[in-house]
Parts: sequence; structure tokens; C-alpha cells
Amino acid sequence: MELQSDYELQKPSNFPMRTYRILIVEDEKPIRDMVYFALGSDGYEIIEAVDGRGATEKLAQQTPHLILMDWMLPDVSGLELVRRIKRDDLTREIPIIMLTAKTEERDKIEGLDSGADDYITKPFSIKELSARIRAVLRRSDPNEHDNKLMHGRLVLDLDAHHVLIDGQQIEVGPTEFRLLEFFMTHSDKVYSRAQLLDFVWGRSKFVEERTVDVHILRLRKLLKPHDCHTMVQTVRGYGYRFVVEK
Ligand code: CA
Repeated sequence: MELQSDYELQKPSNFPMRTYRILIVEDEKPIRDMVYFALGSDGYEIIEAVDGRGATEKLAQQTPHLILMDWMLPDVSGLELVRRIKRDDLTREIPIIMLTAKTEERDKIEGLDSGADDYITKPFSIKELSARIRAVLRRSDPNEHDNKLMHGRLVLDLDAHHVLIDGQQIEVGPTEFRLLEFFMTHSDKVYSRAQLLDFVWGRSKFVEERTVDVHILRLRKLLKPHDCHTMVQTVRGYGYRFVVEK
């Protein structure tokens, strides 16, 4: 029963196409928490920073796909931080959405002039934020157009229906391909057999849960010669998880 309610929270349409990493720079904990829980359950990876210094540190460690930037930070203005990010060659391409409590038109224009891609006025709903994030990511992500999923050595060409490991094509059946596509867009999370049936096979078909195991086994067998089979992990008593090689 617990699994079922869990599933209800995770409708497939809510999931982004691939795992995007979002850095939120915000000193107000309730807002950080709201974003963390809501977007985290949408499949985004969330990194948090509470001020400009923390944001700079996080940016030096890893590049996010998008930054949510509070306007008023304790140590530096969000606007100044945006200017710095846009001046740096390593970070200038990262799209930024400003989170602002200010409602004056003048401030919004100033925000966009500094290089921010969009702004959202507090208080905002997660639905609104989600929609803005998706729109900004769609505009900024060139991968969205070539229709390929990439995770380390593994490449899934969604148009050609090819799986490549280290550039070498491997033959996989249609179900294994769909399974891999799902895993690559939903990595690092555990899914029960019932959830995998819903997402990969579709709810309309009646398929036994044991079928999932059969196809997981086949997928692992195909990945094994390339040493990628360990990416598909069994989580005892629950289901399976796809872990991306670091
Ligand atoms: Ca603030």
C-alpha cells in the first residue's frame, strides 16, 4: 500500500527528461526546503547554498544545469553574484532564474540586464517554479535537440535506437532499451517492480512483476562484457536502482 501512494506522488509526466542539477542560492531555509522536497521528488538533483560564498564554493565543485538565485543574500546581492557568474567563462552558460520578493518593474529589468534568464516573484508556487525551470532548461540545453542520453561511457541514441558503450554499439531488445532509457533518465533512485511496470511497460498491460526481473537480468547480461552491469543494482526487498558511474 505504501508503494502505491509513493507512486501516486511520482507521476511520469512530472519527471524531467534527464537528471538536471539545480543550485539554489537562498538564505531562507523554508524556501530552500520547499524547493528541495518538491523539485527533488520531480527527479532533479538539488544543491544548496545559503550565501554568495557558499554558492562560489559549490560552483567550483560542480557545474549545475541551472541556478535559482535569491535577490537578497546576507553577504552579497544576488544581482552582483549573477554578474560574477556571467563574467566567468566556466559558468557564463549556466541559466539563472532570480527569486525575488521585489515587485517593481525596474528591479526585474535590472535583474534581466545583469544576465539572469528569468525571474520569479515570491511567494511563488512550486508549479509555477517548475514550469519556469522547464522552459529555461528547454531553451538552454542543446542536448534536448540531438535526442541522446549520456551517462559516463553509456550513450543512448533515442532516434536511432542505438546503445553505445565507449562508442561501440551493442545490441539490445526493445524492452531492454526502454528499461535503459527509463533508468538513464531516473538514475540514483530506487523503483519497485510495480513502478517499473507502470513506467516502462505501461499501466494498460497486465504483466507479472517477475517479468521485470527477467528483463533486468537480460540487460545486465548485455552490459556485463563492458563492465557496466553493476550500474543496475538490486535493492533487496524493494526493487532496482540505476547508478551512474562517477
Ligand atoms: Ca534572501
